[in-house]
This record gives sequence, structure tokens and C-alpha cells, in this order.
Amino acid sequence: MSFSVPSDFSAGLYFLGGKRVKGEGEHTFPVYEPRTGAVVAQCPTASPAVVDSAVRSASAAYPEWGSKTELERAQVLHKAAGIIRDNLEEIARAEVRCNGKPIYEARVDIASSADTLDYFAGIAPAVLQGDSMDLPGGPLTRFAYTRREQLGVVGCIGAWNYPFQTCMWKVAPALAAGNAVIYKPSPFAPASPVLLGEILTAAGLPLGVYQVVQGEGETGQALCEHSLIRKLSFTGSVATGQKVQQACASKNIKPVTLELGGKSALVIFEDSEVKSAVAAAMLANFLNQGQVCTNATRVFVQRGILEEFTNALVKEANDKLVVGDPLNEATRVGANINEGHLNRILGYVESAKAEGGTVLRGGVRAHPEGVENGFYLEPAIITGLNDESKAVREEIFGACCLILPFESEEEVVRRVNDTTFGLAAGVFSKNLGRCHRIAAQLKAGTVFCNSYNDTEVNVPFGGYKNSGHGRENCPDTLKAYTQIKAIYVNVQDSLEHCF
Ligand code: NAD
Repeated sequence: MSFSVPSDFSAGLYFLGGKRVKGEGEHTFPVYEPRTGAVVAQCPTASPAVVDSAVRSASAAYPEWGSKTELERAQVLHKAAGIIRDNLEEIARAEVRCNGKPIYEARVDIASSADTLDYFAGIAPAVLQGDSMDLPGGPLTRFAYTRREQLGVVGCIGAWNYPFQTCMWKVAPALAAGNAVIYKPSPFAPASPVLLGEILTAAGLPLGVYQVVQGEGETGQALCEHSLIRKLSFTGSVATGQKVQQACASKNIKPVTLELGGKSALVIFEDSEVKSAVAAAMLANFLNQGQVCTNATRVFVQRGILEEFTNALVKEANDKLVVGDPLNEATRVGANINEGHLNRILGYVESAKAEGGTVLRGGVRAHPEGVENGFYLEPAIITGLNDESKAVREEIFGACCLILPFESEEEVVRRVNDTTFGLAAGVFSKNLGRCHRIAAQLKAGTVFCNSYNDTEVNVPFGGYKNSGHGRENCPDTLKAYTQIKAIYVNVQDSLEHCF
């Protein structure tokens, strides 16, 4: 199927009525290309009136999609997955320009996004079936059955670290269940969800069923408050998640999925194979410039291997973490999302130094050749902090690995759980009994044993505590984009009343 990825944003960054348009708004925000630091577009901010119009047209468009069978919808979604695979390289390059991540990572994100579409399209016909229940008296008198029905128009709000994939994690199950979607991307990475709209239209999605509006807090708030929005799925910080949950109860009552921040930990016992533990610490800290919600900036290392592990990790980071233009094949560390965020991460490095930490490598701005004005950071590894320091307590959301020694199993479980977050955690040990024992005690939505940052579409993803509620990437997610109706049936010719 012929499909081409636009080379610039001249046709706009809104997706309304099945096509890319410029959008309108009194105010605009600048769109940056993180790899070069250049402003590549000015995008209008959607006012509540613009949001209202997008929601109403999606509401009018959705019955055509919602009345199709799951199999008919699956055909469209599988076709969209095929378009993504056929154009993977160009879509991945567009993702790099949108977000600054290295091209080798963008290819993985885009390929897994196609898998997400196939997965939800594939399971929908089986998962969205109703049940039938015999009632007292038996099926010749009464029974009940259930129907899984779509919600209508769903609102989705995304963060900027995985622009295409975050969008897909929400849009694929929402559409597979027969809903329409209004998506509001982060203003820091607004382009990828528009590209997804073009792919879905090319695959045959009815016009207006998927729409993208752009903007900041006011636009997101208008989406959360809109009474025709029947569910809201949000990915972002805890502070914004609190506002979203409140706004979603302000005009009507909406179910909310919140995928929020984290302060995860990786625990390495002294019986671990150091080479594998180092590989896990690299995955837990330096993917996507450290801008990963599950990242384990707190790396707890048992005292007996502290020195060996620390030296090996610093060596591996020095050998492997090539900072550079993310479009270069050799680059392993691309650009951070923007200057403000880069300075925030540098602020954590400074606070760590002020609180007695020692920076073993990195922690300074980088200016790679050819892209000197982009937002680059040499990934940092820091030791010597205690659990009360600012960098150890707060989410950094950047490449800043903190090594913390520990002595015993009981002590480390307590310290890992001593946070208001609960997104993920990891444990390394050759003693598998200990791994499982610890996994059961950690207050986190995902625990990695002898591994880190795996993500599979059939495995639930989401947080405990302030890291949110609701899950993505599993059959429960699909169900969360539906509502269940119970139907009681009396099959007798007359109803015996009990008065
Ligand atoms: P953010 O909370 O600043 O913004 C997220 C989105 O909310 C953006 O689209 C933003 O425009 C919008 N928004 C801002 N104010 C709003 C309001 N009042 N009402 C509605 N929407 C509003 O977060 P961010 O900086 O884009 O992303 C980083 C955060 O996201 C980190 O905390 C990270 O851990 C988290 N995150 C979590 C996951 C997860 O799956 N748990 C995944 C990625 C990122």
C-alpha cells in the first residue's frame, strides 16, 4: 500500500476529519527538534471550543466504527500495522526528529507499536465476548447474560518520551474495542500521533474516529472535563495526574487510567554475575537518555561486590555510551527533550554534589559535532549519597544513575519500598528463591528478576501507589475501554410476583 511520511509540518499538526490540518488557536507554542535545538514549527493551542468541536465530530463519527464487528475492526487495525512495518524506517526517523532518541531505539519502538495494534486487534473478538449465567430456578425460568459495550469517545493525553508508542498503547485498545479517540500529545513531542492518524486513515478507519488536538494544560483540562468524553487515559507526572483525576470527576464521572512517574530501584546481590548485573543497570538507566518512567536510578549493590560492580559499570558506560546525533547508527545516547529538562537533570547532579555525592562520570552538557545546539547530556554515575538526598528521593527522568550500598535482604526491601512511587523494581541474584521472595515483597507494578526494562504487549504495565492505577498492554486494558451490561431474562410466560 502506498503511504508516505511527510518531511515537514507545513500541512499542520492537528488531525481532524481524517486528515492533517493546521488547527486554530489564539496562542501558539514552539515545536523543537531536540537533536538540533531548532524551532521547526509554531503550533496553535486548542481552546476549549476547539476541543469541544473535535469531541462532537468524533461523537458523530463513532457509531459507524462502533457498529462494526470486532473482526471487521481488526481488519483495519491489522492493515495499519502492515503500513507501519512497510514504512518502519521513515516512521522511526520521524520519531527521532520528534523526540531525540537514537534511531536504533526508535526502530524498536515503532516495530513494537505495530505489534500492539496486531495484539489488540487479534484478542478483541475473544476478550470482548459476554457471558451467560443460569439463575436460581434454572435456565427454563430465568437466566442472565452480559454484553461488553464500547464507551463512546475516549480522551487520551500523552507524555513526550515515547511519542508514537505511548499513543499506540492507548489508541490500539480503544479502537479495537470500538471507541473513537481524541488524543492530546505533549507539546514537546506533538508530531507522531498525527502520523499515526494518517496511517489509520490509509488503513480504512472511518474519518473522525481518531482525532488529534494540540496544546498544553488548558487543552488537556478541557478534554478531561468534557461531558461527552467517557474515559480518560493519561500518561505523565504525578502532579498532572492528580489534576486529571479531579477534572475527570468535575462535569461527569469518567473512569481514569493514570500511568504516572516512578522512582524505581534495581537490587544487586553479591552472588550475581557482575557482567549481567552491569548490563541490567545500563538498561535501567540509559535507554532513551534515561527518560523512561520505569528507570531504576536507585541501584542498590550489596557491599561485597560494590567496588567490582561500580568499576565495571563505569567502564561499560565509558565504552558504550556514545553521545551523538541520534540519526547516526553508532549513537547510543541521543538528545534530551528540551533545554529546560536538560537543566533540570543537571540540577540533580549539582544537588547530589552538594549533598556529598561523587560524580564518577558524566553529568555535564555535551555538544556533539554537527548538532552542537541540541539538548545533550553525558550520562552520569554518582556514588556517596544517602537515602534522604534529593536525587535519591525524587524522580529525575534523566540519565543519572545513583549507586547505593546495602548489607542485608531485609534492609534493602525496606529501602526500596521507602518511596511514594511504585512503578517498577528489579532484583539480581543467582538464588531464584530469593528473587521470588523479594518480588513478592516489593510494592511495584512490575518486578524484573535478573533482567530490567522488558516490555511485552501481553504483560500488564502500570503502577502501585502514586505511580498510578489501571494497566496498559494486556487483555484487562482492552476491557477497560468497554463497559459491561448485565441483562436479566425471564423466559416464563408470566412473571410470578412476590407481593
Ligand atoms: P506532564 O505531567 O508534565 O505532562 C503530561 C501531559 O499532560 C502533557 O500532554 C501535558 O500537556 C498534559 N497536561 C499538563 N497539564 C495538564 C492538565 N492540567 N490537565 C490535563 N493535561 C495536562 O508529564 P511529562 O513531562 O510530559 O512526562 C514526564 C512524566 O511522565 C514523568 O513523571 C514520567 O515518569 C511520566 N511517564 C509515565 C509513564 C508510565 O507509563 N507510567 C510513561 C511515560 C512517562
